[in-house]
Amino acid sequence: NPTPPPKPGRVLLASPRSWCAGVDRAVLAVETALEQYGPPIYVRHEIVHNKHVVQSLQNKGAIFVEQTDEVPEGSIVLFSAHGVAPTVHAEAAERRLATIDATCPLVTKVHKEAVRYAKEDYDILLIGHEGHEEVIGTSGQAPDHITLVDGPEDVANVEVRDESKVVWLSQTTLSVDETMETVGALKNKFPNLLSPPSDDICYATQNRQVAVKKLAEDADLVIVVGSKNSSNSIRMVEVALDAGAPAAHLVDYASEIDEAWLDGVTTIGLTAGASAPDVLVDEVLTWLAEHGYSDVQSVQTTEETITFALPKELRRDLRTEI
Ligand code: SF4
Repeated sequence: NPTPPPKPGRVLLASPRSWCAGVDRAVLAVETALEQYGPPIYVRHEIVHNKHVVQSLQNKGAIFVEQTDEVPEGSIVLFSAHGVAPTVHAEAAERRLATIDATCPLVTKVHKEAVRYAKEDYDILLIGHEGHEEVIGTSGQAPDHITLVDGPEDVANVEVRDESKVVWLSQTTLSVDETMETVGALKNKFPNLLSPPSDDICYATQNRQVAVKKLAEDADLVIVVGSKNSSNSIRMVEVALDAGAPAAHLVDYASEIDEAWLDGVTTIGLTAGASAPDVLVDEVLTWLAEHGYSDVQSVQTTEETITFALPKELRRDLRTEI
């Protein structure tokens, strides 16, 4: 049995945490489509990488599919926040699907950079995790020009056509520090490597990492609420450990917290990935209070005010187009 904390145990609650503007918009897009057109609304890939969100949208009539050919001809399909390759739009048009594109505008920004540098015939080194939905979508913007670089250890294998014309781009949800390490290694190899005009790692990923670093300074244990397939949530656990937290764990729900983690723990840092709704954080707070951690203090590192408008397709009548 874990030793109870000196009463009351302390929770440092990170701010910002939980849903970002891109996730908020994507989930609202599915809900609006369901209201406007009625179920079923097909969603290609998990709308955002969060179990709870996917299940609650399923309950409202969303049907999640992996591939476009699983969607019956003439239906409505919504593309997830992670973005899709142009071939996916073409497949949808072939099947006469009405599409709603909920790609986060910050992912679209990276897509545009990829298209632009490919037009200028650059070799594009895309730093990201192999197989991640966003990386597949971004690579698909310029498949002949993009090479994936999956972390610093991958740099040795990278080859380019012309070392004087190379640019790097990145997935939006990476660890800032690890990405800078990869960029450093790439620059050693290709001194003329061009950097993108602005950060590809998005504001939400960066802000959540800064906040979790701050928690890690004082917490004996850091809990990150998020799903196992959520890139930015996994990075937050890694960032907490790198920043000195003695322990850090990723949980989907409060019920996944192991009481043994609390042994000898006085201060718990709590945060959530950009795809995790805050209601799950509230449940963790309730659970922690029941286990002696009722003193909750906010640790705010910045304020987020950014919001995105709904996808433009939801502002016109899709039904008339099918
Ligand atoms: Fe957009 Fe960043 Fe949120 Fe991804 S994590 S949906 S890129 S704001």
